[in-house]
Amino acid sequence: PRQTQIGLMSHEELVSEHESQTANYATLKTEKLTLDLTRGKPSSEQLDLSSSLLSLPGDGDFRDGSGTDCRNYGGLNGLPELRAIFGDLLGIPVERLVAGNNASLEIMHDIIAFAMLYGTPDSPRRWVGDEPIKWLCPAPGYDRHFAITEALGIEMITIPMRHDGPDVHAIAALLANDPQIKGLWAVPNYSNPTGVVYSEEIVRELVSLPAAAPDFRLFWDNAYAVHPLTDTAAPVIDVLGLAEAAGNPNRPLVFASTSKITFAGAGVSFFGASQANVDWYLSHAAKKSIGPDKVNQLRHLRFFSDAEGVREHMQKHRALLEPKFALVRRILEDRLGASKVASWTEPKGGYFISLDVLDGTAARVIALAKDAGIALTAAGSAFPYGKDPEDKNIRIAPSFPQLPELEKAMEGLATCVLLAATEKLL
Ligand code: PMP
Repeated sequence: PRQTQIGLMSHEELVSEHESQTANYATLKTEKLTLDLTRGKPSSEQLDLSSSLLSLPGDGDFRDGSGTDCRNYGGLNGLPELRAIFGDLLGIPVERLVAGNNASLEIMHDIIAFAMLYGTPDSPRRWVGDEPIKWLCPAPGYDRHFAITEALGIEMITIPMRHDGPDVHAIAALLANDPQIKGLWAVPNYSNPTGVVYSEEIVRELVSLPAAAPDFRLFWDNAYAVHPLTDTAAPVIDVLGLAEAAGNPNRPLVFASTSKITFAGAGVSFFGASQANVDWYLSHAAKKSIGPDKVNQLRHLRFFSDAEGVREHMQKHRALLEPKFALVRRILEDRLGASKVASWTEPKGGYFISLDVLDGTAARVIALAKDAGIALTAAGSAFPYGKDPEDKNIRIAPSFPQLPELEKAMEGLATCVLLAATEKLL
C-alpha cells in the first residue's frame, strides 16, 4: 500500500506527493485569496457582544458608588467597584489592584521603563548603568512581550516551554547564579501561542526559586484568565499569595485587561502586586498622568455589575470562538494528520493554536501562504529576536475571520505545509 507518512515515503512516492501538492498550490493561487490569520483580534461579532458599552454609562450617570465624579481628574488607581470585580476574578485584594487605561502592555512597558530609570523597591541601583539586564523568555511566547524587552536593550534568554509551563530546571540554574536576570515573561493561563496552562507546582517553583538578583520579577500576564473554551475553566492561581508565603512577596507583577472581553481597543487594564510594588508603580505613574479614563471604567462597571456578569459574558465569546477552534483542528487533522509532518496544540482556552511544521520549513510555509494571499504571523515571531531556532513554529489566530474564510485559509495553509515538507525531503 502507498505510504501516507511523508517521512517514510519512497523516493517515487515523495515525487508523486510533491507533484500533487504543487498542483494543489497552483489551484490555491488561482483563487486570489486575501485572508489574514496574523493577529489575535476579536471578530466584529465578538465586539458586538459589548455594543451596549457605546451608550453607557448614559446621560447623567457619572458618579461611582463612592460619589466620585468620573468626569474629573484624579483617582490614579482606578474605580474601587470595578477593581473589586476584577479582584474577585483574579484573586487579588482590591487595595493591591490598579485599574488603568486600555492597554495592559502599556503598564508592562512602563514598569520596565520605571525600573530602568529609577530601580524597583528592591533594586540596589537603577537598571540603566547596570547593563546587561537579562530576561527569561519562555518560548514559543508572545511577540509583543519580546518586542518590549528588545526595544529596551534587554538581553533575552530563551527558555523551553513544556506542556505545564516553562522549564523550571533551566530557569533555576540561571536564576540562582546570574544577578543580571531581572525578569521573566509569563502567560500563566492559556499561553500565547501554545495554550499552555501553568501547573500549580510550576507556579510554586517560580515564586520560590532562589534568585541572585533581589529585584527579580515575574511579569505575570494573565491576559486570558477568564477565557476558557471548555466547561472547566483553568483555575487562576493565587501567585501573589504563594509568593508572599515563599518569602518573595514582591516577585510577581500581575497584569490583565478587558481587551479580549469587551473592546480590544477601548477596554480597561489591570495591574496587581504587593503593596510595596503598587505604591512604587503609582508614585511613578503619577508623574505621567493625573488619572485614567474613569468614565470608561464606570461604563465597564455598569456593563458587568459583578464577577458573575464577566463570566456569563465570556460564555458568549466562547460560543463564537469554539466553532472556529474546532474547524482549525478538524482541517489540521484531516489534511495533516496522516502525513505526520506537523503537530499542533489543542488549547482549552485563549486565542491561539500553535502549529509546528517539519523542522526548517516554517519560513517557507509562511512565504508560500503569503504568495497565495494568506497572511500569517511572521516566521519566528513567537521567539526572542524573531528567531525560531528550528524554523518550525507557526502561530494560528482563528478569532477574527468568519468561518468560511477561516476554512479557506486553513485549507490553503495545509497545502503549503505539505508542499514545503515534500520540497524539503526531496
Ligand atoms: N498579553 C497577551 C498574552 C496577549 O495575547 C495580548 C493580546 N494579544 C495582550 C497582552 C494585549 O493586552 P492589552 O490589550 O491589554 O495591551
